[in-house]
Amino acid sequence: MGLRRVEEYLESLRDGREVYYRGERVDDVTSHEVLGAAVRHASDIYRLQWDPRYRDLLVYEDPEYGLISRFYKIPRGSGDLLERFELIYETTRFGRGMFNIIKAIGSDALFALMVIARRMDKALGTSYYERVMNYYRYVVENDLALAVAQTDVKGDRSKRPHEQADPDLYVHIVERTKDGIYVQGAKAHTTQSIAANEIIVLPTRAMTERDRDYAVAFAVPANARGLKLVSRPMKAVESALRDPSFVMGRMNVENETLTIFDNVFVPWERVFMAGEWQFAGPLAVTFPRYHRFTAISYRAAMADLLVGLAKLLAEYNGVDGKSHIRRDVAYIIRYKEMLRATAVAASHYCEVDPETGVAMPNIVMTNVGKLLANEEYTNVVKHLIDVAGGLAATAPSMQDFENPQLRPYLEKYLAGARGTALERARLFMLAREWISSFGALFTTAMIHAEGSIEASIIELYRSYDYEESKKLALYAAGLRDTLD
Ligand SMILES: Cc1cc2nc3c(=O)[nH]c(=O)nc-3n(C[C@H](O)[C@H](O)[C@H](O)COP(=O)(O)OP(=O)(O)OC[C@H]3O[C@@H](n4cnc5c(N)ncnc54)[C@H](O)[C@@H]3O)c2cc1C
Repeated sequence: MGLRRVEEYLESLRDGREVYYRGERVDDVTSHEVLGAAVRHASDIYRLQWDPRYRDLLVYEDPEYGLISRFYKIPRGSGDLLERFELIYETTRFGRGMFNIIKAIGSDALFALMVIARRMDKALGTSYYERVMNYYRYVVENDLALAVAQTDVKGDRSKRPHEQADPDLYVHIVERTKDGIYVQGAKAHTTQSIAANEIIVLPTRAMTERDRDYAVAFAVPANARGLKLVSRPMKAVESALRDPSFVMGRMNVENETLTIFDNVFVPWERVFMAGEWQFAGPLAVTFPRYHRFTAISYRAAMADLLVGLAKLLAEYNGVDGKSHIRRDVAYIIRYKEMLRATAVAASHYCEVDPETGVAMPNIVMTNVGKLLANEEYTNVVKHLIDVAGGLAATAPSMQDFENPQLRPYLEKYLAGARGTALERARLFMLAREWISSFGALFTTAMIHAEGSIEASIIELYRSYDYEESKKLALYAAGLRDTLD
C-alpha cells in the first residue's frame, strides 16, 4: 500500500471502534468536536510526509521495504539514533511543542520486540522473531498508526498480578485455542489509542512463574471486538473551544484512554509472548529504553518552546537581562540543552544487539536525561512564571480584545516595553494555556509518562557499570597501586 495521505489515514479511523467520551459513545473520532483535535494532531505526521520541506526528515527509502516512514527505520547504529532524535525533536517543534506519538511509540515497541523475540527464540526454541518481523512488515507497508498499551491498571501495587483480589487487574490470557488467545483486563493512560490503527500490548513488569498468563504481548486492531477505549476528559480542548486565543488546545493535543480488553481474541500470528514469564521483565525494560529516548527527544523540543516564551515575555515586560530573569531563562535553557545532550550522548554511546543488529540507545544516558526531565519540570514552570508575572493567570481574554468598547482600555493598560498590547497579551494567553488548561496533564505527564521517577532511578542504579568508579576510589584510597 505504501505511504498514506491524510485522507486515507482519517478514513481508516472510521472503522466502528468503541470509543467513549464523557460517558457517551463516539461514532466517528475524526469529526468529534473534542477528540477530532487529537486526531488532527496525529494526522500532521501523514501531512508532513508529503510536504517537500519535511519529506527527507520523515521519509526513508529502505532497501527491503521501499519508501517508508522514517519513524519505522530500524536503528542500526549511532547515526540512525541521532536521526531519530532529530525526527522526534523537529516533529514536536512542528506541533507547537506538543509531541506527536502516533508512529514513535509503536516503533519503540517494535524495536524492543525484535530484540526480545530473538532472545526468546534462542533460549526457548520459539518462533516469535519471525512473527514480529511479519507484523513489522504489515505495519510499515501499510504505513499504520500505532498506540502502545503497557501500563496495567495494577490494582494493589504491593501485589503481583496473580495475587490481586481481581485477576483482571493486569491483562492476561484467559483461554488458548488452536487459532489464538483470548485476553481480559485493562491498561491505563494509552496515548492516542483513539487515533491509532493498531494497539500493541506489552507486559508492564517482570513476572514470576505463577504470573505466567500475565506474561503476554500482542497486537490488535483498534476496532477489535471487545476492546473499549474510554477517553479522559480533554480540558485543554474544551477550554480552547471557548477561547479563540488558545491555539494549542485546538491544534496540538494528544488523548489518553483507559483501554479495556473484554475477552478480546488475538490470532497466534499477532501474539509475541504467551506465558514466557522469564522474558516479561526484559521486554518490560527494553521498551522503555527506546521510549525514554523518545521522551528526552520530544521533551527537549517542548522545553525549546518554554525558552522562547520566557525570553519573549522578559522582552515584552522590559525585564530582559535583569539578573534574576537571566537566571530564570538560563535555567530553562539548561533543562532543554541537558535533555538534548543526553539524547545525543545516548545515540553516540548506543549498544548494538549482537543477535539482531538493532541499535539500542545507551541506557545510562537515556535514564539520566529522563530522570532530569521528570524531576526538574516543575522548577522549569516556576522559572517561566517568575519571568511572566501574574498576568500569566489573570490576563483578560481574547473576547475582551474583540469588544470595541474595551479594546482601547486594554491597549492602554496592557502595554509593555515592546510590541502591541495584544501581542503581549497573546504571549500571556499561551503561558496561561500551558499552565492551566494543559497544566494537570503536563505536570503529571512530565513526572510519570514514559515511566515514573523511581523507574528511572531503579534502571540507573541497576545498569550503571560501577567497576571503573570503584577502581578509582580504591586507587585514591591507596588500596590498589594502579588504575589498570
Ligand atoms: C500523560 C501520560 C501518558 C501516558 N502514556 C502511556 C502510554 O501511551 N502507554 C502506556 O502503557 N503507559 C502510558 N503512561 C503510563 C506511565 O508510564 C505511568 O503513568 C507510569 O509508569 C506510572 O504508573 P502509574 O500511573 O500506574 O502510577 P503508579 O505505578 O501507581 O505510581 C504511583 C507511585 O507509586 C509508586 N509505586 C508503584 N508501584 C510500586 C511498588 N510496587 N513498590 C513501590 N512503589 C511503587 C511509583 O513509583 C510512584 O511513585 C502514560 C502516563 C501519562 C501520565
